[in-house]
Amino acid sequence: MSEKKQIVIVGGGITGLTAAYYLQKEIKANQLPYDVKLVEASERLGGKIKTFKKDGFTIEQGPDSFLSRKKPAVKLAEELGMDDQLVRNGTGQSYILVQGKLHKMPSGAFMGIPTQVRPFLFSGIFSGKGKLRAGFDFVLPKGKEQTDQSLGGFFRRRFGNELVENLIEPLLSGIYAGDIDDMSLMATFPNFYQLEQEHRSLVKGLQNTMPKPKKTKEKKPGMFFSFKSGLESMVDRLADEFDDNTVTLNAAVDHVEKKEHGYHLLLSNGEVYKADTVIMATPHFTLPKMFSQYDFFSSFKEIPATSVANVALAFDKSAIDQDIDGTGYVVSRNSDFRITACTWTHKKWPTSTPDGKVLLRCYVGRPSDQEVVDLSDQEIIDIVLNDLNKTMNITGKPEFSVITRWKNAMPQYTVGHKERIAKVRNKVNEQLPGVFLTGSSYEGIGVPDCIEQGEKAVTDVLEFLRG
Ligand SMILES: Cc1cc2nc3c(=O)[nH]c(=O)nc-3n(C[C@H](O)[C@H](O)[C@H](O)COP(=O)(O)OP(=O)(O)OC[C@H]3O[C@@H](n4cnc5c(N)ncnc54)[C@H](O)[C@@H]3O)c2cc1C
Repeated sequence: MSEKKQIVIVGGGITGLTAAYYLQKEIKANQLPYDVKLVEASERLGGKIKTFKKDGFTIEQGPDSFLSRKKPAVKLAEELGMDDQLVRNGTGQSYILVQGKLHKMPSGAFMGIPTQVRPFLFSGIFSGKGKLRAGFDFVLPKGKEQTDQSLGGFFRRRFGNELVENLIEPLLSGIYAGDIDDMSLMATFPNFYQLEQEHRSLVKGLQNTMPKPKKTKEKKPGMFFSFKSGLESMVDRLADEFDDNTVTLNAAVDHVEKKEHGYHLLLSNGEVYKADTVIMATPHFTLPKMFSQYDFFSSFKEIPATSVANVALAFDKSAIDQDIDGTGYVVSRNSDFRITACTWTHKKWPTSTPDGKVLLRCYVGRPSDQEVVDLSDQEIIDIVLNDLNKTMNITGKPEFSVITRWKNAMPQYTVGHKERIAKVRNKVNEQLPGVFLTGSSYEGIGVPDCIEQGEKAVTDVLEFLRG
């Protein structure tokens, strides 16, 4: 009897876990002679998905939710029998902090782009001049066809600087923790490029293509999902599904060597794993070292990754002078604030917070303020409380705080990202057949994007093994 083919997955974040899950499912369903191993450097699975529980609070240290309209995550939840655990965010007014003042987010903004004119005309976020300039979108010709351009440049051309700086930038940079003027349009929101090419005006394009909101008195459901018990419950559920001995924790892959047949993976615990095919589900910057004999990975050193810190503050309700009407705010850069966003988590995710308590979750660490992430816990808390007190009145101390530093955690899809990745992937196909690169460094950083990429890696591996 021939030996089973060995598939090794490197990295136990949501991408690697998804790949392991769907691979083992396929193997069982089709009785394939394959074996799956997953190697994770740290002491736990989940990567950036991390939920902390204390005194009845459920605190997300990494992502707090995923977009409900992106289906791969919902599909995986259903597969795992977790659909009854899904919870939508509580909807409410969200705000934007411009020049130190909180303004209501204008209704009808899709990623900051107006789809209704009236709320923008009456919004205090923009000056008359800014509104007039944004209106140029209706008359400006479409941009010339090009392979890529910066997200900032694209939106500044259509709407002017004010709409970009006071609305689009804080919303989009919040997702990527990046600088909108460096970010690639085609790697982040290629649909906006298509919209301009097809409809010229982005506002008209969105009006023509987005489903019309139903006229109903019912509250619109929230756009995000989490799980009652936090996002990490999906990680735990995935791990429960794995066959025994699938996962090795506390073992970093230090080096990958190509052999006559397949690969040898040298682990930090001294073990060597043999593989016929390898799924690399680790951040891009780990690859130049693991594949040090292949120069083409060195271009990954040019892909920046920014650091952020997530600061959760748990209070008794009595510590907040006036309860807040809304779910949170993002901060524009023209405000003298170091936090980049604040979620009133007890409102947005009521299941996260016990009755009578308040949970505020803030971020620090914009690309131009990376130093803040290295400050001490107390210094970070002081900065956050100082900023929070500019718009609310916090009279008592937090009952506890949880600060999570995510170093180099947000890969930056800068202009030319897609081409850069395609070049390296072509080289990998030529020189390292059976090695597949996947995860948040490549085709989307959102949890559903990572799940989708994990699934795609499964298809690639199965095709490769079938020859
Ligand atoms: C603070 C924060 C907030 C976010 N908020 C949201 C949100 O609200 N919604 C959303 O959709 N997305 C959000 N994201 C993005 C999303 O969480 C991540 O993009 C996604 O979880 C990344 O998954 P991954 O599996 O690709 O990578 P990771 O989670 O980074 O997993 C990679 C794994 O590889 C391991 N590893 C590294 N090197 C080695 C090695 N040599 N050998 C073995 N293992 C190794 C690491 O330890 C890690 O466990 C957020 C991200 C951050 C950091």
